[in-house]
Amino acid sequence: MFKPVGSRVSFPQIEEAVLAFWKQHDIFNRSVAARQGGPRFMLYDGPATVNGSPALHHVFVSVFKDVIPRYKTMKGFYAPRIAGWDTHGLPVELEVEKKLGISSKPQIEQYGIDRFNEMCRQNVYKYLAEFEDILKRTGYWMDFDNAYITLSPDYIESCWWAIRQMWDKGFVYQGYRVTPHCPRCGTSLSSHEVAQGYKENTEDPSVYIKFKVTDKSLAKLPDDKPVFLLAWTTTPWTLPGNTALAVAPDADYVIMRGENEYLVLAARLAPALKLDGYEETGRILGKTLSGVKYQPLFNPHDFGVERRAFATEGTLTVQKPPKHLSYRVICGEFVTLEDGTGVVHIAPAFGEVDFEAGKEWELDFVQPVDLQGKMTGSYPFSGKFVKDADPLVLEDLGSRDLLFRRGTVKHTYPFCWRCETPLLYYAKTTWYIRTTAVKERLISGNEEISWYPEHIKYGRFGDWLANNIDWAFSRERYWGTPLPVWRCEKCGAFECIGSVNELESKAMNDTLVLQKLTKGLELDLHRPYIDEILLKCTKCGGKMKRVPDVIDCWFDSGAMPFAQNHYPFDNRSIMEDGRFPADFICEAVDQTRGWFYSLHAISTLLFDRPCFKNVICLGHILDAKGEKMSKRKGNVVYPWEVVKKYGADALRWYLYTASAPGNPRQFDARQVDEVSRRFLSTLWNVYSFFVMYANIDKYQPSSEPFPPPEAELDRWVLSELNQLVVDVDASLAAYSPTEAGRKIETFVDGLSNWYVRRSRRRFWKSENDADKLSAYNTLYHCLVTLSKLLAPFTPFLAEELYQNLVRSAFPDSPESVHLADFPVADATLIDKQLADDNRLAMHICSLGRAARSKAGIKVRQPLAEIFVGVKSESERRALERMAPLILEELNIKEMQLGMLEQVAGKEDKSVCVVSDAVAGVAILCEITAELEAEGMAREIVHRAQTMRRSAGYDIADHIILYYEADAFIMQSLSSFADYVMQETLADDIADSVPDDVDLKEEFKVSGYHLLLGVKKVT
Ligand SMILES: [Zn+2]
Ligand SMILES: [Zn+2]
Repeated sequence: MFKPVGSRVSFPQIEEAVLAFWKQHDIFNRSVAARQGGPRFMLYDGPATVNGSPALHHVFVSVFKDVIPRYKTMKGFYAPRIAGWDTHGLPVELEVEKKLGISSKPQIEQYGIDRFNEMCRQNVYKYLAEFEDILKRTGYWMDFDNAYITLSPDYIESCWWAIRQMWDKGFVYQGYRVTPHCPRCGTSLSSHEVAQGYKENTEDPSVYIKFKVTDKSLAKLPDDKPVFLLAWTTTPWTLPGNTALAVAPDADYVIMRGENEYLVLAARLAPALKLDGYEETGRILGKTLSGVKYQPLFNPHDFGVERRAFATEGTLTVQKPPKHLSYRVICGEFVTLEDGTGVVHIAPAFGEVDFEAGKEWELDFVQPVDLQGKMTGSYPFSGKFVKDADPLVLEDLGSRDLLFRRGTVKHTYPFCWRCETPLLYYAKTTWYIRTTAVKERLISGNEEISWYPEHIKYGRFGDWLANNIDWAFSRERYWGTPLPVWRCEKCGAFECIGSVNELESKAMNDTLVLQKLTKGLELDLHRPYIDEILLKCTKCGGKMKRVPDVIDCWFDSGAMPFAQNHYPFDNRSIMEDGRFPADFICEAVDQTRGWFYSLHAISTLLFDRPCFKNVICLGHILDAKGEKMSKRKGNVVYPWEVVKKYGADALRWYLYTASAPGNPRQFDARQVDEVSRRFLSTLWNVYSFFVMYANIDKYQPSSEPFPPPEAELDRWVLSELNQLVVDVDASLAAYSPTEAGRKIETFVDGLSNWYVRRSRRRFWKSENDADKLSAYNTLYHCLVTLSKLLAPFTPFLAEELYQNLVRSAFPDSPESVHLADFPVADATLIDKQLADDNRLAMHICSLGRAARSKAGIKVRQPLAEIFVGVKSESERRALERMAPLILEELNIKEMQLGMLEQVAGKEDKSVCVVSDAVAGVAILCEITAELEAEGMAREIVHRAQTMRRSAGYDIADHIILYYEADAFIMQSLSSFADYVMQETLADDIADSVPDDVDLKEEFKVSGYHLLLGVKKVT
């Protein structure tokens, strides 16, 4: 006996029970341990950043991470997998700032770095539990008990080791450069962080500014009116930093005469400006403008701002600003004639091109903005945030008649990926990793990686590598792995520390960190404690203080292949025992510039090789309307709601199969419901059908292989099943769960809507003959194999099926489906011809149903004849053989067979035709009195069966059927009494409805009156 299974099912309830079973029997750990000795399969868990409640995209990634190692385990691989948590960085700091109601670095320091970082730590642990809960509930099998966590001293020490390795190889340096800088967070960002924060359609000012020429002789400019160089900018706040104008040396520039002035700009761009009231009075080449002097818009001398000059690379010297200052025009190959005026405003303090031009031409360097993005000095707009200063700058220039035209422009602008403040490109000191030194190896290493989808390899990831720039990896923040670099206060020498031991041995003062270390207490290597440690300079004996920066949290996550094992301080064997590199990683597509990149960069810098072999790169999850989910918009879907309602399997199946993994997907919870009904419920119905009849017939599966079946349907479904095993195995081996899942879905559809539908009567019939046994054996085998194929995808439902179908019959079988082996196909059972024939038969049935619906005749109404046209003689022979199946399915009495081209000619007012490129059908729609009576009998059977279910009868219960009806119905019933009795398991039919029936119901059928009553025979 199998455990009875109802047709109504609550998947979430089943899943809770399965979870308890797994936990009680330690199935996950045992599934791993059982394969010890097998080949290793290594998954790296991309650590989730724990700075908020887990959202749907976390589950999306985790189910794709989960399916592959589950499959590999069933294939005999040893696949231990450790979860990881990414705990440092701006995301966490920002969350804590919000909680404290503060929003700047001075406020954090006032609050105390120790207390601030303690809150960051607590915040992490709070969400960590939430993550674990939902991931476990969705069946994500990971070792959470031994999870690595980036804030631990061991992890930090491994990161220090890595930095020291790079330091020794000359890959770490400090540079004075223009860096993307978030003025709110007060820190530099790396290019991969910037890449995540671009916003399209950002509105900014678009303004044309006049720069007054002071020395016209050089370019022989007209002398009768003032001459202005016309430049264009979208960042007016940078204008106080202007110290040069650049022109394209070989382009033509026009001199335009207006009423009170001359304007100079590129000839090609002049027409677009529509300079009404101006006429061209001359042309010169850009290079003749070189050296022409003009008046600064804002002389730093007048506004109390330092004026500096470029000296040797990376350093600036302070210059005294003269009272009368003029700047000059320079030539730049970077000046394009695509937009603007061909006269480019240069502010070396902002923007990479400007900074480089400053170095090359030894320009003045004027920095009118502080690191918080506020204007300094004594300008009319001092103290304002740069973007707020824009209108005031323009107002000021306007009052001096230097603003020629103002408008707005929509363009793409980078914002801070965490706090959404517009970024500034700001010249400052930052620590870099020289990734460009290994650029060629980064690119060649990518050749060794397999990407799914494939286009990421040379697209998003390949492009990113090809355009590699050095990694700005220091952060002027608090909650992160401290940069292990100390600087001598006396001689300026730097020292990089590579381990806690080294730190201890070189420290010159006793601090909390060292005390804890010597006493074996829980160590905390974070700020501010680490900042207290002073080292003794080996060069001059001076006092060395730590550079106060922390490092990019992406360095932490990219270091996980070794840092999770505290390598090389422990686990030195990871390089040989299959734990490095990973066989498989999986994250969303934004990680091409995040984790995928940091992993690849660090591994290449340290080990000169890639650290992962296969990647599934997932598209983004959007909301139902196709918008990006964000907390701010309030459209984030939380996975708990979905799981509680539909279950984890439904969500998993939807995520695997709804679209290819690389595509962005619009998430709508209703689609999960739809998947649940279309796929999981279909499978469940087949399963409950099987269990119900198997229990009635006391079917006992045999542990021996059953004899090859004779029935064509059995042979067909076994052929399909074995083909499915081959296909699913191949797709999973090729990292394509989507393809594998879709194949399973097609099979289950065929199993339910063709195999079971057409085999139903074989289970219903009373005699227990060989054909019935064959049907049981076949369906049982299909369901058991499906439970194993589905185990990596829908681990809960698979377990439920397996426990009831396999464990109850064979107590010696593995205790869980997840301890079982992956099915192996029997190639001898695959019959391609049979598959084609059945596909054709199914297709004919769908054409037949289409023809019926075109004619408006229900399938329950029998019809006399169908003509089927196909394209070949062999197809015709196949259909001849399968005619009984098709006729039964379509409820038609007779079939004529012919060729496709004959079908069209059959069309008539009593014949309905439907055809396509493959085949065609013509059905005779005439309904004779006899056919109508038979149709009525079927209508009655249908209603009686529904009543049997409503009355709660068992499938095998016999009944008495009572009726009162119009004459036509009575006549139908008497003509088809045997049929009605057989179908409804009625021992008798009586033509009046007494009061003591179990259930009575009144119907109108095709306009006729019918009263039915049912009573169980006891
Ligand atoms: Zn920011
Ligand atoms: Zn020194």
